[in-house]
Amino acid sequence: MGSKGKEGRSSIILFANIILSLAVILFGVTMIIYVYREYGDVSSQSPYAMFMLMIGFTLIFFAGQALYNMVRFGLEVGIPQLSIITVVKCYSCGLTSERKFQNGDYVNKVVGKCEKCAGVKYISNIYAEEPKKKRF
Ligand SMILES: [Zn+2]
Repeated sequence: MGSKGKEGRSSIILFANIILSLAVILFGVTMIIYVYREYGDVSSQSPYAMFMLMIGFTLIFFAGQALYNMVRFGLEVGIPQLSIITVVKCYSCGLTSERKFQNGDYVNKVVGKCEKCAGVKYISNIYAEEPKKKRF
């Protein structure tokens, strides 16, 4: 499948961007530490130190934001969140409905009366559904 290779590439790009953002954050932190070491108190009147601090904090802020967005995006796209679906079927009329899996659900479990014919409803199937986003 062609889509698989494309996904792999984009996750490598995502990974590279995350590393880059981490490097930028590290650089910003190093700058701030450097300024504190060299100039001690930030309130000392050095405009150069203030400038360095501002750049350091700005770098951390933007890289942090980019990192946050990328991680969120990566979680949404990269990791499929499976939802478990329980299929409930009526013995008598065959009426089927689906709902989210609940603790204690198992196949052939009787789950009550049918709304349509008052027959016995049971669980006919339990399956995992992949998010629709993943289907191309
Ligand atoms: Zn029924």
